[in-house]
Amino acid sequence: MEYRKVGKWGLRISEVSLGTWLTFGSQLDLKATREVVRYAVSSGINFIDTAEAYANGIAESILGIILKEYKREDLVVSTKIFWGGDGPNDKGLSRKHLLEGIWNSLKRLQLDYVDIVYCHRPDPEVPMEEVVWTMDQILRSGLAFYWGTSEWSAEEIEKAHQVAKELNCIPPVVEQPQYNLIFKDRVEKEYAPIYEKYGMGLTTWSPLASGVLTGKYLEGIPQGSRLDRWPWLKQVMEERGIFGEETTNKIKRLKQIADNLGVTMSQLSIAWCLKNPHVSSVILGVSSLEQLKENIKAVEVKDKITDEIYRELSSLF
Ligand code: NDP
Repeated sequence: MEYRKVGKWGLRISEVSLGTWLTFGSQLDLKATREVVRYAVSSGINFIDTAEAYANGIAESILGIILKEYKREDLVVSTKIFWGGDGPNDKGLSRKHLLEGIWNSLKRLQLDYVDIVYCHRPDPEVPMEEVVWTMDQILRSGLAFYWGTSEWSAEEIEKAHQVAKELNCIPPVVEQPQYNLIFKDRVEKEYAPIYEKYGMGLTTWSPLASGVLTGKYLEGIPQGSRLDRWPWLKQVMEERGIFGEETTNKIKRLKQIADNLGVTMSQLSIAWCLKNPHVSSVILGVSSLEQLKENIKAVEVKDKITDEIYRELSSLF
């Protein structure tokens, strides 16, 4: 396992990490979750990502129970604040919700601090000054060590840096975007100017496009799979043409390339993300220990991706 710096900053995180969306607190029970975390940590994963919104806080609560087994200094734990509830002040990036959100997350996680706290989405209704001051205060009061953004536009990230400079506040150091063979433009095009300029790192999500890149949906929707369990997500995928003939043929080609290399489609897809030097960590989502065992081998598969294969994969979708 390689440990990569988060952009230019000092923190080092494992090149693959463990996510908790739709799995912790919903799909996996406590015993299965504990096994997944144990396997992850014993394989060298040091970074675990969660959010206040995941399973309405239950993902954080379960993680909090499990984290008691580990030495705090050995782990990098992140959470994300934005969707905390239904009340008028329970969501978004107001000073009130950011502070109450992080306090509540820390209570559920049973931690004194997280290593990274992300603003889970941009909030156009809150002035950037308010967001940047509050994140600065969260960091200076020791509730988190670094702050980041998730799915902010390059323009919004630029603005946060400008405001942080003007107000002498700590800037965001990392962005958490979607990045996979299908959805890659934001990381590769839109963010291109900001890596060098601000030294931002990336912790990327949905490396398998919610499982689509494993090929599991080629013959329909398997019972109990993510798109079966979450019809809204199936609809999102449908709207993006994921089940159309063109994408289906490309996924079949991905399978041929994986077969030729003697690896699985999920390992190849994750390994492709790892080839991007701006990626600090690829966050894995797993619904079982078997999936984790398979997917974590992507760290070995990345060396099998020659320049020629990389080019073909990059131009496939
Ligand atoms: P993926 O795209 O890798 O999807 C994971 C899902 O794909 C699994 O739950 C499983 O679903 C299926 N899968 C994974 N491996 C295999 C395999 N080997 N064979 C068959 N099916 C497999 O990642 P996620 O979408 O879960 O994202 C990863 C993490 O990123 C999240 O847990 C979260 O921490 C973070 N995230 C952040 C977001 C943000 O806005 N910042 C948004 C989304 C995620 P199943 O078996 O149930 O079909």
